[in-house]
Amino acid sequence: MTAYLIRNVSVVGGAPTDLLIRDGVVAETGAGLAAPDATVLDATGLVALPGLVDLHTHLREPGREDAETVESGSRAAALGGYTAVCAMANTSPVADTAGVVEQVWRLGREAGLVDVQPIGAVTVGLAGERLAELGAMADSAARVRIFSDDGHCVADPKLMRRALEYVKAFDGVIAQHAEEPRLTEGAQMHEGEVSTRLGLTGWPAVAEEAIIARDVLLAEHVGSRLHICHVSTAGSVEVLRHAKARGVKVTAEVTPHHLLLTDEKATTYDPVYKVNPPLRTAADVAALRAALAEGVIDIVATDHAPHAVEDKECEWAYARPGMLGLETALSIALDVLGPQWDLIAERMSRAPARIAGLDGHGLDPAPGVPANLTLVDPAAHRVVEPAELASRSRNTPYARMTLPGRIVATFLRGEPTVLDGKAVR
Ligand SMILES: [Zn+2]
Repeated sequence: MTAYLIRNVSVVGGAPTDLLIRDGVVAETGAGLAAPDATVLDATGLVALPGLVDLHTHLREPGREDAETVESGSRAAALGGYTAVCAMANTSPVADTAGVVEQVWRLGREAGLVDVQPIGAVTVGLAGERLAELGAMADSAARVRIFSDDGHCVADPKLMRRALEYVKAFDGVIAQHAEEPRLTEGAQMHEGEVSTRLGLTGWPAVAEEAIIARDVLLAEHVGSRLHICHVSTAGSVEVLRHAKARGVKVTAEVTPHHLLLTDEKATTYDPVYKVNPPLRTAADVAALRAALAEGVIDIVATDHAPHAVEDKECEWAYARPGMLGLETALSIALDVLGPQWDLIAERMSRAPARIAGLDGHGLDPAPGVPANLTLVDPAAHRVVEPAELASRSRNTPYARMTLPGRIVATFLRGEPTVLDGKAVR
């Protein structure tokens, strides 16, 4: 195993120092380290962060390997500075049994580019009718701790209650895609001034807020952990603030795109901007940014949703919702939050690792810590070229935008997965 001596790096924004990586861990830190056998990387001007952790990734395998595979998504993640991703359950077949979650987990280990932690479905086939084998998935080799029907809301309150009760035994968490389905029938975009102007059926903010309000009350009643996926409205922030003040065990995520883009994008009719929940208003974006800084929203999660060309480059009404996220998330966070490295490390690595219970991830580089880390060049800018992305899909909303920051290197347990901005394999 090669040793690496990273020279002159700022660890999470601190004063420049050296990091020696050996045998999969950070062996030493300090100025002027010597290690004759190590490969030296000059990291002057670079920032070392704990490897990023994504709580919300769609890898599409099994079932839609034309859009993404565990391997291509893992490579995209590594290039984005990630060392662990949680793979959503809406594959085909659905990850609702021990067999499927173990398959995804094994494919992740074989790719070896990030740790792939499968999320299990809450209900059989995501149909929202009966609970999936949560216990069998938890006991499987994949050790599933997060369960989600993402793409669908667990709309039935009794099922949601039972799911929360069930996972309490092993400190699991239910990750809810908060969307009251009756209120979003036929919805094409955010319900508001722009949808009225365009004559498109709206997805009202209250459809999200009503489910979050119900579920924080259920989580409080049961005493279980609840996580809210892709919070998108100012009203949701207020519900979460109230719940957290009451001590409810609720955590929440926001996506990069909901921190940056608004429903005005729908006026282009370019389906790359179609996503669920939809892009909201500038006031919502401002509230989400403030909530992320304050901690009412705990983490940034990508909701990386690759789609094949035929599912995306068609009429708005027929296009599948979702956009790519892994390879651009850190740049968007840097754009939105500025160089607040401790905040970025907290929201994109430490907190998601804690929520997911991922050992060895989300830890700042320090002696003895597993060497899961990424090196960022904050002074660099990049133009996003869809054809250059490692994802098998091309549905990025940031095409040809100039974004700040560049991932220079990523290490997974001391082995580089990205060097010089390029995937090692
Ligand atoms: Zn979702």
